[in-house]
Amino acid sequence: MNSPVPHFTPALPTRLPAVGTTIFTRMSALAAEHGAVNLGQGFPDFDCEPPLIDAVDAAMRAGFNQYPMMTGAAPLREAIAAKIAANYGHAYNAATEITVTAGATQALTTAILCCVHPGDEVIVIEPAYDSYLPAIALAGGVPALVQMEVGPRGYSVPWAKVGAAVTPKTRLIIINSPHNPTGSILRPSDIEALAGIVRGSDILILSDEVYEHMVYDGVRHESICRHPELAARSFVVSSFGKTYHVTGWKVGYVAAPAPLSAEFRKVHQYNVFTVNTPMQHGLASYMADPAPYLGLPAFYQRKRDLFRAGLQETRFELLPADGTYFQCVRYGAISDAPEAEFAEWLTREIKVAAIPVSAFYQAGKESGIVRFCFAKKDDTLRLALERLARI
Ligand SMILES: *Cc1c(COP(=O)(O)O)cnc(C)c1O
Repeated sequence: MNSPVPHFTPALPTRLPAVGTTIFTRMSALAAEHGAVNLGQGFPDFDCEPPLIDAVDAAMRAGFNQYPMMTGAAPLREAIAAKIAANYGHAYNAATEITVTAGATQALTTAILCCVHPGDEVIVIEPAYDSYLPAIALAGGVPALVQMEVGPRGYSVPWAKVGAAVTPKTRLIIINSPHNPTGSILRPSDIEALAGIVRGSDILILSDEVYEHMVYDGVRHESICRHPELAARSFVVSSFGKTYHVTGWKVGYVAAPAPLSAEFRKVHQYNVFTVNTPMQHGLASYMADPAPYLGLPAFYQRKRDLFRAGLQETRFELLPADGTYFQCVRYGAISDAPEAEFAEWLTREIKVAAIPVSAFYQAGKESGIVRFCFAKKDDTLRLALERLARI
């Protein structure tokens, strides 16, 4: 006779009480439900270049299908180090200073877990990408939030406030340029200000540069790699998903000085261990040609300009879009509803989905601004603009 299964109700206190379903998932579901053009979640609605698929296919057929090295396939680490040296003039050692990760998200979380001890403070600049705060919480860290300011010239980082947020417990400052969601970029004066704040301290920097190749109007990307003084204390994170239109592949990397990379790898080794092999070999051979990423600013600048020209004919007020594939707009001339409510109305009634910028603030700060993603086919952008012009 079977004995009855004892009743068990798991009582699991949550590690992340503030976390629910992300706004991106919710807006994408709402967009699908209402047949809306999805300019919400940040991903291209077009495919990657066929030679990249061919390169991965060739890697699989060549037998690159077993575990690669824990730190990443050697040809890919070498290609990344060569690319950084060519573009930003910093020579990372491919063996000891480059680690391949399962996307930038994992690189960010692992960097935070490996250096933030319980009680350490981490300065986060809001609006902020949504993965930073949960990762800090898992590490037992304490976020110190500083809000960007938004003026006629768009969003900027108030460095005096960042400096004022530093305490003896500050372990890490997280920066993100080009910046999601605002489309702003850090300039040389910003980098100088940051250097002034950390000089003489033990503070580390986590630099999220996944949009490094989406800077427009001929302006150069101020990678932290370009600044030896800051590179010496920085984890620099990027993602092939953003650069090569393959967000679903989830391959990224972290570049950091050897002592920081060694600590990073201790966590990486038991969390992820290795990233899938054929994609790494495919990416390594595809990267030999710099044309695809060198052409990216022109590719996206044209889409940005098409989208901005169309929005100029609507009642939205454009904010500057100096980098990334995001365009932020003020909607005060249309509605005084809170951002989430406005974004839902826009999705349901106008059939264009956007993301409320309030979702990037822990306390949900309202600015009357929503974010559109313009990494879309021209036809998709035109259809969205047609609908937005009717408001
Ligand atoms: C998309 C994005 C990431 C995550 O990149 P993945 O490689 O998809 O994990 C990290 N930071 C920012 C700012 C992003 O927009």
